[in-house]
Amino acid sequence: MNYDIVIIGSGPAGLGSAFKLIEENPSFKIAILEKEKICSGGLLNDCKQNYTFPIGFTEEYWNENEANSLLEEVEKHLSPTFLKKINIEKYQNRSLKIKTKLVNIKQAHVGTDKSPALIRTLIEKLEKSGVEVLLKTEASENINTKLRTVELKDGRSITYKKLIIAPGRKGFSYLQNIMNSLGIKYIDNTVDIGIRIETKLECYPIVKDYYDPKFYFPNKVRTFCTNSGHALVTKEKYQDFSLVNGHALSTDRGENGLVNFAMLKTIGLESPVRSGQQMAVFLARLANEIGGGKPIMQRIGDFRAGKRSRIESFNDDLYDFKPTCSACAGDLGLAVPSKIMRDLWSSLKILDTIMPGILHPSTIMYYPEIKMYANKPNFINKGFAVTEDIYLIGDGAGSSRGITGAWASGIRSANDILKNR
Ligand SMILES: Cc1cc2nc3c(=O)[nH]c(=O)nc-3n(C[C@H](O)[C@H](O)[C@H](O)COP(=O)(O)OP(=O)(O)OC[C@H]3O[C@@H](n4cnc5c(N)ncnc54)[C@H](O)[C@@H]3O)c2cc1C
Repeated sequence: MNYDIVIIGSGPAGLGSAFKLIEENPSFKIAILEKEKICSGGLLNDCKQNYTFPIGFTEEYWNENEANSLLEEVEKHLSPTFLKKINIEKYQNRSLKIKTKLVNIKQAHVGTDKSPALIRTLIEKLEKSGVEVLLKTEASENINTKLRTVELKDGRSITYKKLIIAPGRKGFSYLQNIMNSLGIKYIDNTVDIGIRIETKLECYPIVKDYYDPKFYFPNKVRTFCTNSGHALVTKEKYQDFSLVNGHALSTDRGENGLVNFAMLKTIGLESPVRSGQQMAVFLARLANEIGGGKPIMQRIGDFRAGKRSRIESFNDDLYDFKPTCSACAGDLGLAVPSKIMRDLWSSLKILDTIMPGILHPSTIMYYPEIKMYANKPNFINKGFAVTEDIYLIGDGAGSSRGITGAWASGIRSANDILKNR
């Protein structure tokens, strides 16, 4: 169990590092540790790939030129088929009139049913090049920086010369524990909190012209991760609460006539708040408490009438589509802080002005959709190193916010290792 490079996590960030390192130096002995029985973290979902800066990147760590040149490398590995867009200028002009920006993004979409095949191809390529991909192998938080070892959960330990840690958003706390034990300073003061909207295709027809439209509204609210075709809202399970998310199957699976997307508000917290992550977890637990252990959903019609949704709200009459996620019919007003709800609601009204329809009474709002990728470690260089031998990359370390950005952060850490070899 002695390696030149050990990578914890086989998501796009980990894969980005592994490909770069083995392609530049085939003699490297590299191991990727993955706690699940299948690779590749977030790639395993919908796999919408955004190839336009700053989507997927954390702007404070990246500039457009560098991001673009790394995106070319990402593209070579993921071989995207780009989606066509139409009428963009029309939507952009309408948006600008109400202080909203629609960003035109170069996009590709794989679909949840097809992403496993893409992942298999990537892993096979890595294995053929000599990279060892160790599935069902969970790294513990015990890292001995003197001996350069990582303890595994099964009791073994593994030795590295360089260690790249890429545990993703779900590994947020894992990473914080490592930083605490190694004495690495970090700030954790930004979170994205919002709702997921589910509606009928005819209420959000822009998706026929632009698959995942990125609107930026006033007050740091934006649309995020739009899914259509065969679109589903899902639960993302954490230890004692669930968040909502969404994905879509590939075009081969036909349509279910629904669209879903997130409306997120970025919250930048100031002293004396101790931790954005803790605040987000607190809000998520509150929502799950009110929802009897599940996220909450409410029809727009009920929300406007100032009443909670009930099971009866989800019938075949006026409210004529069934929710695709098993959430608890309830009242968002009890769970979402009012400042956040106000800004989300204002943004929904703007969206309804640009393309009338989204505020149809049948539209469902699910809560909580929260993104906890706001660790800001004290990096010692541009390669996301936190010590001479340890790198923290991907969404968990706040160095990216999407598949392509995560992959690019992996390339950057690999470049740093190659430069200092
Ligand atoms: C439902 C859903 C849909 C999404 N859709 C999109 C999309 O369409 N487009 C987009 O750009 N982004 C999407 N995202 C976000 C995207 O998945 C992430 O931005 C991206 O995957 C981050 O990459 P990462 O490598 O940092 O982390 P991840 O992809 O999360 O990978 C981390 C990996 O590390 C493993 N791991 C964690 N801890 C350990 C440990 N201790 N030992 C061993 N292994 C460990 C995890 O099992 C995981 O496989 C989606 C996310 C979700 C949840």
